[in-house]
Amino acid sequence: MPDAPIIPDALTLPRRLPEGGKVNIVGLTRDQLRAALVEAGTPEMQAKMRVGQIWQWVYHRGLRDFAAMTNLAKEYRTLLAARFEIAVPAVVSRQVSADGTRKYLVRIAGGHEVETVYIPEDGRGTLCISSQVGCTLTCSFCHTGTQRLVRNLTAAEIVGQVMLARDDLDDWPRAGQGGTGDRLVSNIVLMGMGEPLYNFEAVRDAMRIVMDGEGIALGRRRITLSTSGVVPEIARCATEIGCQLAVSFHATTDAVRDRLVPINRKWNIAALLAALRDYPRLSNSERITFEYVMLKGVNDSDADARRLVRLIAGIPAKINLIPFNEWPGAPYERSDWERIEAFADIVYKAGYASPIRTPRGEDIMAACGQLKSASEKARRAVRTAATPTA
Ligand code: SAH
Ligand code: SF4
Repeated sequence: MPDAPIIPDALTLPRRLPEGGKVNIVGLTRDQLRAALVEAGTPEMQAKMRVGQIWQWVYHRGLRDFAAMTNLAKEYRTLLAARFEIAVPAVVSRQVSADGTRKYLVRIAGGHEVETVYIPEDGRGTLCISSQVGCTLTCSFCHTGTQRLVRNLTAAEIVGQVMLARDDLDDWPRAGQGGTGDRLVSNIVLMGMGEPLYNFEAVRDAMRIVMDGEGIALGRRRITLSTSGVVPEIARCATEIGCQLAVSFHATTDAVRDRLVPINRKWNIAALLAALRDYPRLSNSERITFEYVMLKGVNDSDADARRLVRLIAGIPAKINLIPFNEWPGAPYERSDWERIEAFADIVYKAGYASPIRTPRGEDIMAACGQLKSASEKARRAVRTAATPTA
C-alpha cells in the first residue's frame, strides 16, 4: 500500500515515479488506466470513478491538459500532471489533395514515421490508419511492402492517429454536446501501412478505446479491419474486436495470388476461404468485404470474375474493386475502365454488390497502397544531394 496521505480526498503519495518519465494515458485500456491510477496513489474505492472522469475528458472532449479537468480536485489534477501525460504522435506534415483528402505524416517514438489519411465524403469521412511502420509482407503491387523498416505501432500510436486527425479537423464535441451524428471522422479503416493482424493486441486495444461509448464512441460497424489473409488470427477480429472484416483477395488462382500476396504461400486460397466460411459474425447483415485490386492483364479477365464468384459462393460478401494506384517503379498498370466495369458486371450479376473504389488523394500519394514513409525518401534525397559529385 502507498505510505502517506498527501491531499484531503485521501490521495496517497506516489511510491515511485514510473521509469522513463510519465505514463501516457492514451492507449491504456480502462483496466490498465485504473491500475496506473491506483499505482499513482488513487484510492482503490475511487479509481473506477476517476477512470470514467478522465476517460471522458481525454476521449470525449479531446483534452490534453489535466489542469482543465474541472470535475477533479485541484490537488488530484496536480498529481496527475506530475505522473501522467496525454500524448499523441506529432504531425510532421500535412498534405491536402485537390479532392480534399488529407494525408498526415506522423512521427512516432524512435524517429519512425507512418501515414494517416482522411478521406472526406459529404460532410463525414473515413480515416485510414496505420498499424505498423512499413509491413513485413511484400505484396508486389503495394508501395508499403517495399519499405524495409518495420515496427509495430503501440495502442497509443494507433488511437493517437484518430485523435490527431480530430484535432486537425476540429472534430471534438464542444462542451455540452453529446451527439456523434455529425462528426467528420465517422468511419475508420485499418487500411494504412501494415498488416493489422500481425499487431493484433495493440490494434484490438486501440479499437476498443475508439468504440468505448463514453469516449470517441464509434460503433463497431463503422470500423473495418483489412487483412491480407493471416488465417489463424481472422476469427479474433470478430470475437475480440467485433468490427467489420475486409480481406485482400486479389486473385482467383494460387499461382497468381502467390505472386501478388506472398502470404498466400503460407495460407492459400482454400485455407483463407475456409477461415472466412467459419467467420463467427458472418451473416447477411455483416458481410465480408473482398478487396480486389484491378491489375491490367494479371487478374482482371472475365474468367477471373467468374472464378471469383464460384470461389466465394455461400459467403455473405461484397466485392470492392480497387483500380490499381500507381507508385514510382510499380511493376503493374491499372486495368482499363471498361475492363473494370465488365468485371464488376459479372460479379454483380452473380448477386454481389461490386462497388468500384474511387481513387482518392492520388495527387498526394495518399490512395490505397501508395503509402510509404515519405520522410525516409526525403532524407535519402537530401543525403544524395549533399554527396559531392566531383
Ligand atoms: N495490410 C492490409 C491492410 C492495408 S492495405 C491488407 O493488405 O489488407 C489496404 C488495401 O489496399 C489492401 O486491399 C491492399 O491490397 C490494397 N492495395 C495495396 N497496394 C495497392 C495499390 N497500389 N493500388 C490499389 N490497392 C492497393
Ligand atoms: Fe502489407 Fe497490405 Fe501492403 Fe501487403 S498490401 S504489403 S499486407 S500493407
